[in-house]
Amino acid sequence: MRLYHLLVAFPIVSGFQLPFQLPFFNQPITQEPLPPVPSRRIAIIGAGAGGSSAAFWLGKAQERFGLDVEVDIYEKNTYVGGRSTVVYPYENTSLPPVELGASIFVKANKNMWRAVDEFNLTRRDFREDSSGMGIWNGESLVFTAMGGWWGIWDSVKILLRYGFHSPRKTQQFVDKMIGKFLTLYSVETPKWDNITHLSSALEWTELLTQSTSDYLASEGVSNQFIYELVEASTRVNYGQNADGMHALAGAVSLAPTGASAVEGGNFQVFEQFLNHSKANVYLETLVKSISRSASGQWQITSDRGSETYMAVILAAPWHSTNIELPADISSRIPAQPYVHLHVTLLSTTLPSVPAQSFSLPASTKIPAMLLTTFDGARNGGTRPEFNSLSYHGAIREGEFVVKIFSESRIEDAWLSKMFEGQVGWVHRKEWDAYPVLPPTTTFPDVKLAPGFYYVNAFEPFISTMETETLASRNVVDLLLKEELQSGICGSAELSGEAVEDYVYGWDC
Ligand SMILES: Cc1cc2nc3c(=O)[nH]c(=O)nc-3n(C[C@H](O)[C@H](O)[C@H](O)COP(=O)(O)OP(=O)(O)OC[C@H]3O[C@@H](n4cnc5c(N)ncnc54)[C@H](O)[C@@H]3O)c2cc1C
Repeated sequence: MRLYHLLVAFPIVSGFQLPFQLPFFNQPITQEPLPPVPSRRIAIIGAGAGGSSAAFWLGKAQERFGLDVEVDIYEKNTYVGGRSTVVYPYENTSLPPVELGASIFVKANKNMWRAVDEFNLTRRDFREDSSGMGIWNGESLVFTAMGGWWGIWDSVKILLRYGFHSPRKTQQFVDKMIGKFLTLYSVETPKWDNITHLSSALEWTELLTQSTSDYLASEGVSNQFIYELVEASTRVNYGQNADGMHALAGAVSLAPTGASAVEGGNFQVFEQFLNHSKANVYLETLVKSISRSASGQWQITSDRGSETYMAVILAAPWHSTNIELPADISSRIPAQPYVHLHVTLLSTTLPSVPAQSFSLPASTKIPAMLLTTFDGARNGGTRPEFNSLSYHGAIREGEFVVKIFSESRIEDAWLSKMFEGQVGWVHRKEWDAYPVLPPTTTFPDVKLAPGFYYVNAFEPFISTMETETLASRNVVDLLLKEELQSGICGSAELSGEAVEDYVYGWDC
């Protein structure tokens, strides 16, 4: 995530003259001109990271080789971005917006990173200030360090408390995962219609079938490190404990070194994906049902009425959409519980939470970023009232914004007690934020039926903004191959070597 790529447009071979084969696709892609079929219509449901990027990838194919398709995107909300959206303190748009959902991405997230550059957005480092980080167990602060989460890994404090082996082994575990993850951007990227197969191609089965704690323990990482540092990160990133969540998600939680965000809101990436697509965007348009028409096409019934499509891309977690599906399709999507997360945003004039609010000696400095471990509760102690509580800078002179993630509602009385009555603006939002991620080897089908694809099948594997853009890229490639004997890269020559920091889908 560190180097700016060189924006070298790879020469696109025009026309359809040369025979070529996309890697991992079994059949050669025919180079015959596509027959003119005016009714080539594709519907995308959901305009979050997954749906907006699906429209963008289709747009790339349209731009590269004149793919003749019409794309409609349906979104029930009034806005683009889904779980990535901002709110303004006091609903005052002259104050800096605050992320209400997805906040950060990292440099290994090459689609997000690239999009920010291509769309002339501004990336900012998502660093906490020097007021430090701490881990709260519901009764005491078990660990504190200056410099924030990302700066502490090599610190003397870490070495003193956890020794050398556990942090080093954990870092190796994360680095190995990232190394494999990066292959998804290469010319040789696997393409998948089955996530279990993708997982074995990436050699991640061992991570998926064990909890984060079991996997790290088998690597000799100490329980103290697992249930403090590692669990603090699984709880803030996925609202789940280290002993309940698979080790792939554990590694993803530990990866945000060099975390960044888009100035003004990450949702702008998704707006720009749509602006750079040729899709018709229908906001405030609820999809109610999807069925097969007699001709084998797909019928979508929505607030717009009934429309017929060659293919459908579902880019929302199906169980939360209330969309009626044919029984043979819905039966292919296993039940998928999501973590119901309470997000509480507030502003306060207190620059930090007073120690007395935690019943700690007045001399204790409470860090700006408080993460939590469940280990106190696991051993009979008090459950932490929140998963994380962190200061996110000033909204104006002397007034700070604080974000709290919790399993249940944070009441006004609790806020008032914690912040000594110095609370200004409060905004609450409940999300079905991310899948519950127990160890598993079963995933929903990526292709639910011929011409019907499911982006969010990827979420129980990894759930982030970036991975939704990867899942949609894969789905668009599958769709184009199966329905139109083509691909996102069309007839462009595939060679990663000519482009620095090549990113599949952008540079082909
Ligand atoms: C509080 C929180 C913090 C997070 N933090 C991070 C983070 O820091 N970094 C990160 O990468 N990820 C984070 N995530 C996860 C990230 O937000 C998601 O993985 C990602 O945004 C999912 O994108 P999506 O497009 O698949 O789904 P969504 O964003 O949920 O989009 C689906 C869209 O479909 C629409 N829709 C649903 N049903 C219908 C229907 N019937 N008709 C029409 N439209 C419909 C919805 O309105 C929605 O806009 C966080 C999530 C939450 C909630």
